[in-house]
Amino acid sequence: MRYNVIRKMDISNGPGVRVSVFMQGCEFHCKNCFNQETWDFEGGKEFTQETIDEVLNLGEKDYIKGLSILGGEPMHPKNIDATMELAKQFKQKYPNKSVWVWSGFRFDKDLKDKEVLKYLDVLVDGQYVDELHDPTLKWKGSSNQRVIDVQKTLKNNEIVLYA
Ligand code: SF4
Repeated sequence: MRYNVIRKMDISNGPGVRVSVFMQGCEFHCKNCFNQETWDFEGGKEFTQETIDEVLNLGEKDYIKGLSILGGEPMHPKNIDATMELAKQFKQKYPNKSVWVWSGFRFDKDLKDKEVLKYLDVLVDGQYVDELHDPTLKWKGSSNQRVIDVQKTLKNNEIVLYA
């Protein structure tokens, strides 16, 4: 499992100032993907416990409101275990900071039984569709994507949108 980059202070992906981790590897290859250098599963750097420790250290600052995990594809079978471990350890250390994940997979169709969901506050789901691109959308690139409140969705057993 590999990752592309860690951003220490990200104000574009989720609410507030956040630590962001961009995972490496994606098979969706959406037209005009914003991050094509993350497609190759062999690119980037090795993801280890040291990577998680670095993120945990960065999360310590009071002004960091949470962790965002993007890609690449964090929920690809090759990446999902690392995504879960990262989300789990961050949530255990910082229960009051949020964990957001962006995935091309769909919550109800592909992810609803995945253990990783236990550790997420928000999942932005669905592939990017260039024809549905709208720059005014918050936290998503195209109108087909959904910003989902994960814990409310699990509790209610139906999709509850965060925004
Ligand atoms: S799912 Fe995300 S990273 Fe993968 S091709 Fe689509 S926009 Fe790019």
